[in-house]
Amino acid sequence: MLALVKTQKGKGFLELMDMPEPKPGKGEVLLEIKATGICGTDLHVREDQFPYWPPVILGHEFAGEIVELGPDCKYYKLGDRVVGEPHTKACGQCYLCRTGNPQICMDKRSPGWGIHGSFCKYLVMPEHLLHKIPDNMDFDTAAVLEPTANAVHNVIERAGIVAGDFVVVIGPGPIGLLCGLTAEAAGARHVVMAGAPPDEGMRLEKAKALGFESVVNVAKVDLTEMVMDLTNGVGADLVIDCSGAPRAIAGMPAMARKKGKLQAVGLTGGRNVDFPWNTCSTKSLDISFGMSTSYTSWNRAIALVAKGLLPAGEVISHRMPLTEWETAFEEIAACRALKVILHP
Ligand SMILES: [Zn+2]
Ligand SMILES: [Zn+2]
Repeated sequence: MLALVKTQKGKGFLELMDMPEPKPGKGEVLLEIKATGICGTDLHVREDQFPYWPPVILGHEFAGEIVELGPDCKYYKLGDRVVGEPHTKACGQCYLCRTGNPQICMDKRSPGWGIHGSFCKYLVMPEHLLHKIPDNMDFDTAAVLEPTANAVHNVIERAGIVAGDFVVVIGPGPIGLLCGLTAEAAGARHVVMAGAPPDEGMRLEKAKALGFESVVNVAKVDLTEMVMDLTNGVGADLVIDCSGAPRAIAGMPAMARKKGKLQAVGLTGGRNVDFPWNTCSTKSLDISFGMSTSYTSWNRAIALVAKGLLPAGEVISHRMPLTEWETAFEEIAACRALKVILHP
């Protein structure tokens, strides 16, 4: 089968090549991949900025159909349409796994960097990591459930958004837009989507089209002043960073209300943040971080998308055959694309 492979360590070394079709083992199923999304992580692996074990097929956001069952599969049947949590190789024994947090198990190696991923026609997945998708959900939308579950995990489960909250989201990439949509689904009264000059084209235009109450370029508007004006000087209930930009992160406490919440989603790429710790103390803020996705965040994401409350498929800007992966990567790197779905 044709697969997009990171062939060795270093920058680049991505190649579309022929790879053997995998066979499902005990408790595993074989999925025919129908749609698979490109994530920022895939670009980081290309640039050698994220751990990976080459040679490895990239891709961890996927939806597909079960075409073969390994021995001892109990819960799924041929033809089931599914998505899967990328928590493969989590040990099942450590403190984190035993407390329901395999997503941060030290042994975890996800499809797409730790083991072979979804940028190909067939992928083997353990049955226990699958979720069924509703009949009325198309595969392209289902392929966006992984980043959607990430947004749900951060905004609902970690930050604990409350209906009626005033929310600021910094960084209008796919994850930022999905966090904003999740906030709307959870009943936010006002979502401010904030971006920087490179976001001015596609990303902020998309944010406007999605109907967020305020969409701003921070190079043109003083974000804190604007938030204070809109909240009668009180500040935002919840500020979410999806940019990973140290300066943006340092600005979060100033625009939060006293007893408000900060949620860290974006990664800084190893850069440290000069952060106003005292402001957090004097405002008595709650700060929370979130990594990856929980089992429950997948169930919530599937339900919210299926019910039409969270239009996750809206963040898809391009659909392409796998063979056009190179164009897709370039468009994303240049901020001319949001979520790109590849069809193997
Ligand atoms: Zn991802
Ligand atoms: Zn573990």
